Amino acid sequence: LAHEDQDTGKIEHMQVDMVVLSSALIPAEGSKELAKILGVELARDGFFKQKDACGAPLESTHEGIYLCGCATGPKDITDSIAEASGAATKAALLVEERVEEVKTEIEPIDISGEPRVGVFVCHCGLNIAGLLPCESLAEYAKTLVNVVFSEDVLFACAESTQRQIQERVKKHNLNRVVVAACTPRTHEPIFQETLAKVGFNPYLFEMVNIRDQCSWVHIHEPEAATQKAKDLIRMAVAKARLSHPLDKREMEVGQEILIIGGGIAGMQSAIDFASRGFKVHLVEKEPQLGGRVFNLASLYPQGRPGKDLIDMKLDELKKFGVNTYTNTEVNTIEGFIGNFDVGLHSKGKKIFQKLKIGAIVLAIGSDLYQPDEHHGYKKFSNVYTNMEIEQMLLQKGIPENVKSVVFIQCVGSRGSEGNPGCSRYCCQAAIKQAIVFKEKGIDVTIFHRGIRVYAKGAEMMYRRARELGVLFLPYPDDSFPSIKGKTKAENIVVYSKDLDADIVVPVDMVVLSAGMIPKAEESQRLSEILRVSRGPDKFFLERHPKFGPVETSVDGVFLCGCCQFPQDIADSIAQASAVASRASALLSKGIITLEPIVSSVDEELCRGCGSCAEICEFKAVELIEKEKGIWVARVNEALCKGCGSCCAICPTGAIDIKHFRRDQIEAELEALFE
Ligand code: SF4
Ligand code: SF4
Ligand code: SF4
Repeated sequence: LAHEDQDTGKIEHMQVDMVVLSSALIPAEGSKELAKILGVELARDGFFKQKDACGAPLESTHEGIYLCGCATGPKDITDSIAEASGAATKAALLVEERVEEVKTEIEPIDISGEPRVGVFVCHCGLNIAGLLPCESLAEYAKTLVNVVFSEDVLFACAESTQRQIQERVKKHNLNRVVVAACTPRTHEPIFQETLAKVGFNPYLFEMVNIRDQCSWVHIHEPEAATQKAKDLIRMAVAKARLSHPLDKREMEVGQEILIIGGGIAGMQSAIDFASRGFKVHLVEKEPQLGGRVFNLASLYPQGRPGKDLIDMKLDELKKFGVNTYTNTEVNTIEGFIGNFDVGLHSKGKKIFQKLKIGAIVLAIGSDLYQPDEHHGYKKFSNVYTNMEIEQMLLQKGIPENVKSVVFIQCVGSRGSEGNPGCSRYCCQAAIKQAIVFKEKGIDVTIFHRGIRVYAKGAEMMYRRARELGVLFLPYPDDSFPSIKGKTKAENIVVYSKDLDADIVVPVDMVVLSAGMIPKAEESQRLSEILRVSRGPDKFFLERHPKFGPVETSVDGVFLCGCCQFPQDIADSIAQASAVASRASALLSKGIITLEPIVSSVDEELCRGCGSCAEICEFKAVELIEKEKGIWVARVNEALCKGCGSCCAICPTGAIDIKHFRRDQIEAELEALFE
């Protein structure tokens, strides 16, 4: 490969064994035809056109037809999943008759008598069988105590094999099943569901991961990997022999929703919940709803004022009867999914309001990084943040004497201060403002560390800015542009690697593109009250980026908008709709099922030391006075996640976890060292 070394300017040659081309995402084949059939419009880039790229990103140009994922433009998986959930909420509203789940009673199989274990060893194509001798592993399993049936199968999760497993259970009267295959994280529920269909209790099932833990990680040691697979199968059989059937429990859940934060994400979520018939309480600590969007002079790509979008959303809140509380903060939250007790406090009032809430949405938004003297801010009177420029454009306009403006990107982003990641909004915001300046005949230079534009239409805006003559110049990661002047910034000096010299740009105004940072105090307070996790960057953390992008680690608590990570308005709106979809699915039946894998206390052994309550991250254990002077631990099963911390710390062995009982773990360990 020949390439230019940007430090030296020389052409370098390198030998490679493989070249990987990162190819672009382009509109799906057949989009044009589909658009024609559906009567929806395509955008200029060939993707499907949104009704309003900023305010209604999931709606197409045809009422009743919704868009999500890469249909509207390139997206990552997390955004696609959030959009898909949001689009589902919107579409479901139009469907009057919902398909009710039909529950059929299945006779549970008889599990009395000795354990009769069935073992299935999966080839997973060549994933497992490429390294491990699956047939002999199945033969080996036959030698284990209580194993009455064992076989190897090509793909255990294939529909035909699932039916085969059901038949084997019936034919051999199996009352315990072990599958040695891939990861239980994705596949355990599939097998549990299959077995439940023939009346087999899902908690009599064990899964062993001989793919990730054997054939993949020990690819160069087939013999050791085979021995490890045998050990794991033997351990699983030992545990399964002691398994007890468990039943999921049902609990009534409340139908009122609390949304904390009245910015664009909170407002959209409130609208979507309320339009589905939930009673919604929207709480905002500031005197007005709308958050930062309310103060934006214009929104890209259309250029209309932020206030217009907020006014539109306010009308919808009113139409759907959302209870809004401004100047109000959440004071206390107790309880658990479906049954939260929430206390609100309105500033200047002595009244505390109490609410009974089924689910909570965190939508507190983010703050903007506050630049300091090092960035020339407050040191020079003509250095502004990009938000201050929005205010200027909204109120008095650009001063007459301004002829040259410099933007400096990534202030408080992608470095050791502020947000370590990209703030995702500021490049496109700077380009939007640069166009406004340029159209008024003002020279604009944008100093950046690599322009990143994500939003729909932002690339077009970038090209337009270039056509208008906006200069984009890079500055090095380790050297912030130097601002020279007395009381006002007069020149910006930036070292250019290409020229190996300083570039000096005379300025009348400097705009700092401030990064998005978490609301430090508020997010800490709420994370403590709710026990919701935060990431190392202090933004709230989703349960799983792909499988639970709007859920938190606490059941019944969801999140959307910039309190999770920096995002633009369209993404926040899509995510807010996704929350409504996920939470509605959970609450709409009025009843939820709870996992039975929870801890339980043997009160005879408990001596009330409180260690379990102290260590439990989910506030699931409390000490109660059983008799005068006798304290014991009690577990709230709705809060317990079955993590096992309490069990490990209990000095008397009084706490145990169902399905991972002490005798089961001991049996596994004994089997390991057999
Ligand atoms: S969007 Fe642009 S200015 Fe903002 S942090 Fe990312 S790269 Fe920097
Ligand atoms: S198992 Fe975990 S969540 Fe449950 S009570 Fe024990 S420590 Fe708390
Ligand atoms: S740690 Fe054990 S002994 Fe102590 S309160 Fe909890 S259950 Fe009881």
